[in-house]
Amino acid sequence: MTKLFPNYKRADIEFIQAKENQLIDNKGKSYLDFSSGIGVTNLGFHPLVCTALEKQANYIWHTPNLYQNSLQEEVATKLIGENDYLAYFCNSGAEANEAAIKLARKATQKTDIITFINSFHGRTFGAMSATGQDKIQKGFGDLVPNFKYAIFNDIDSVKSLISEQTAAIMLELVQGESGVLPADKTFISQLSSLCQDNDILLIIDEVQTGMGRTGKLYAYEHYNISPDIVTLAKGLANGVPVGAMLGKSKLGFAFSPGSHGSTFGGNKLAMAASSATLGIMLTPNFLNQALDKGNTLQKSLSETLSNLPSVISIRGLGLMIGIETKANLNDVIQKAQENGLIVLSAGENVIRLLPPLTLTQNNIEKATNILKNVFETIYYEDKL
Ligand SMILES: *Cc1c(COP(=O)(O)O)cnc(C)c1O
Repeated sequence: MTKLFPNYKRADIEFIQAKENQLIDNKGKSYLDFSSGIGVTNLGFHPLVCTALEKQANYIWHTPNLYQNSLQEEVATKLIGENDYLAYFCNSGAEANEAAIKLARKATQKTDIITFINSFHGRTFGAMSATGQDKIQKGFGDLVPNFKYAIFNDIDSVKSLISEQTAAIMLELVQGESGVLPADKTFISQLSSLCQDNDILLIIDEVQTGMGRTGKLYAYEHYNISPDIVTLAKGLANGVPVGAMLGKSKLGFAFSPGSHGSTFGGNKLAMAASSATLGIMLTPNFLNQALDKGNTLQKSLSETLSNLPSVISIRGLGLMIGIETKANLNDVIQKAQENGLIVLSAGENVIRLLPPLTLTQNNIEKATNILKNVFETIYYEDKL
C-alpha cells in the first residue's frame, strides 16, 4: 500500500540504475530513454556530472547565500557568455518563473502580465496563475490577479490585451506540456517589437526548451531576439534540482538585498553539477551536433511514420519532438515501454520525445524502429 499522495499517475515499473542513455528497471530490463526524465538529464547519465558531484561532496555541499559563492559566479558566467545579464539561482522551474514575475512587477511598477492559452509555467501560485490551462488552475480558489491570456501565435490577440499596466509578456518558444507547439518566427519578431515599442519586458520561459534541448543553449537563439528575462531549470544541472533566472543588468536595481531569495538556491552540489553540464554543452560543436541529431531524428521519424494512418503529424525544434496521433497516448507509451523505449505524452494527442543530446545514430535507428512497430500495430479510432 502506498503512503504517497495520489497526485501522480505512476507506471508500474521502477528504474533503479542508469548508464548513459539507458535506464534499467528493478527486473533488470533495460530501456532506451527518449524522455531524459522529462527534459532533465539532457546529457544522459553522464560520468563527468557524476564525478563533479562526488568531488564537490567531498569539499562542502551547502553554504548559505550570506557568503561569496564562486561556483554560482562560474555557472552564471557560462550561462551569460557575452550577453548583458545577471543571474539568480533557485531550485525549480516554478521558482524561476516566480522570480521572473516578481522582478518584472517590481522593476516596472506595473501589474499585468500577459501569458498564453495552453502555456505551462509551473504549479506554485504565481506560476500556476501564469499557466493558461483551466485544468491546472481548477479547484484552488483565487489565483494571483492580473494575468491575461493571449492566443499563441496570434499577434492581434496580444495587442488587444496590452495596456499602460502591462509589465511583461511571458511565453515558451515551444509550448511543451500542451503538445510541442513551436512559436512562428514572424509572431516572435512582432512580439519582440511590440515589447520594445511599449516598454514591456519580454520573459522567455526556457525551463524545457533551454540547455541545448532545441539544439542551441537557448531556444531564443533560433528566433534572433534578446529577451529581458530568461528562466531555466530542468536540464540546468542534468538532474540535480536547480533553477535560474537571467535578467538584463538594467533590472538589477529591483532585486536589492533582502527583496527575494531562497535557502537552497544555488546550492554547491547543484552548481558543481551545472558547471560540469555547461562545460560539456559549451564544448565547440557539441550543440551543433545536437541540432544535427535532432534534424536527423525528425527526418527519420517523418520518413518512417508520416504515412501511417495512426499518425497525424510530426513537428518540433531540435531534440524536442512531437508526434500527433489518433491513438490513445497511454497505449502508445505502454507499448513503446514493452518494446524497450521510454517516451512521454504532451497535451491531448501528442507523443513527446525529449531524447538526450548525447544520442547516437544507433539510438535514432532503434527508436525509429520501435516507434514504427508501435504506430503500425496500435489500435486507434478514426474520430471525424
Ligand atoms: C517543467 C516546466 C516548468 C515547471 O518546472 P518545475 O521544476 O516542475 O517547477 C515551467 N515551465 C516550463 C516550460 C516547464 O516545462
